[in-house]
Amino acid sequence: MRLASTTETEIRLTLDAIVELANGITHDRADVRGTLADRGFARADAASHASIVRLTTKLEQLTELFSSLPDLDEPAAIAWVNEELTELEIAPSIVSHDGVGPHIHWTPSTDTFDNQVLADLLMALAQELCENGTIRFGRCAASDCQEIFYDGTRNRSKRFCADPRCASKTHTAEHRARQRSG
Ligand SMILES: [Zn+2]
Ligand SMILES: [Zn+2]
Repeated sequence: MRLASTTETEIRLTLDAIVELANGITHDRADVRGTLADRGFARADAASHASIVRLTTKLEQLTELFSSLPDLDEPAAIAWVNEELTELEIAPSIVSHDGVGPHIHWTPSTDTFDNQVLADLLMALAQELCENGTIRFGRCAASDCQEIFYDGTRNRSKRFCADPRCASKTHTAEHRARQRSG
C-alpha cells in the first residue's frame, strides 16, 4: 500500500516535470535545474553545470516526443518510448530514505545526475503509458497557446496549461461569443 502511494506521488511529480520541461524547451525558457528541484529531484541543486548541460541536450532530443504525447495514440507512443528505453542505463533497487517509505530508484545513487533524471523521466512515462495510455496528456485550449499539460483530475476536466491567463482569456472569449449568438 505504502509502496504504491509513494511511487504514484513520485510518478505524478515526474510527469509534471516532463510537461514543464517540454513546454520550457519549446518556448526557449526552460529552467532545467529549477524545474527538477521543484519536482522533488533532491540532487538538482547540487548538480554540476556540466551535468545540467548534458541533460539539457538530451531533453532537447526528447522534447518532440514529450510535446507530441497529446496527439499520439497509445501504440504510437509506446513504440516511441520503447525506442528511447533501449538506450537507457538502469539498475533498479528498492530504497527508503528521508522518511519516505520503500519506493523504486531506477539508478544507483552513484550514477550521474543526468542519467538519473533521464531514467526517472522515461520510466515514469513508461508506467503512465501502461496505466492510462496517452489520454491524460492534453494541449491547452487557448487559441494562441500550444503548451501541453498532464491532467491528473478524476474526471479529466482539465483544459488549460499552467498559465492562468489562458483560462481567463478563453472564458472571456466564450462569454462574448455566447452574448453575440444570444
Ligand atoms: Zn527516492
Ligand atoms: Zn495555455
